[in-house]
Amino acid sequence: MRSNRREFLKIAGVSALTLLVPAVLPPVRAAGNPSAPVAAARQASSPLQPLTAGRWALAVDLSKCSADCTDCTTACHQVHNVPALGNPGHEVKWIWREPFPAVFPGETHAWTGESLRRMRPPVLCNHCANPPCVRVCPTGATFQRPDGIVMMDYHRCIGCKICLAACPYGARSINFRDPRPFVQKLNPDYPTRTKGVIEKCNFCEERLARGLEPACVEACRQKALVFGDVEDPRSEIRLLLEKRVALRRRASLGTLPQVYYLL
Ligand code: SF4
Ligand code: SF4
Repeated sequence: MRSNRREFLKIAGVSALTLLVPAVLPPVRAAGNPSAPVAAARQASSPLQPLTAGRWALAVDLSKCSADCTDCTTACHQVHNVPALGNPGHEVKWIWREPFPAVFPGETHAWTGESLRRMRPPVLCNHCANPPCVRVCPTGATFQRPDGIVMMDYHRCIGCKICLAACPYGARSINFRDPRPFVQKLNPDYPTRTKGVIEKCNFCEERLARGLEPACVEACRQKALVFGDVEDPRSEIRLLLEKRVALRRRASLGTLPQVYYLL
């Protein structure tokens, strides 16, 4: 039943977007950077063709990522109508930065150098291959697609916060109040949420359905973010993971995060 529902949502979502594109969206490539070196984009024969993968993953190249840059957060939060509530206790965040020792507590020691300590890697939902948030959700509001994206069905969420407690990465936010008045610049092509609803990064599944890369990847001027299919041995992300040393957050928990940090 659940997989039927997911298939329906996927088909319905893609169909709705296909209908929407000529009417309200700019030409898809006009909104992005047509020269972006994206393994995933190469898989599409037309800009309107959905990007597909066996398993989507994101690599963050820490050698390119500058600690004070907010381009990825700004782009993501604008595209997804993430509210700026102004109260740190009620913060809603999809992609944000944290100090390296907080992101990788097991990778630092008393002699870790200042440059590593000062690093502030971007963090987001890891779209874990073994996601505890999905296992605990009593309503099916959070579920995993066959391509690994951990999704939220905002209409099914009852705000019980069990998933919030189950996620060991703090990747989920709850809307403690009505977020709509706090959306700074409304994107009419993406839904807003209501009070009590959980939200988090969705790997820009709505953009993938339109043949576009995630907004954070497109916005990163340093090209520090690489998104692609880790099951494709020819993809850029796969080649990077084969060549470089990569960390995953709290890998010992067995959640199998699909966000990789390249050293
Ligand atoms: S990072 Fe957290 S919210 Fe994202 S899939 Fe993993 S457990 Fe779930
Ligand atoms: S808060 Fe929503 S998504 Fe999280 S476990 Fe409860 S119903 Fe599921």
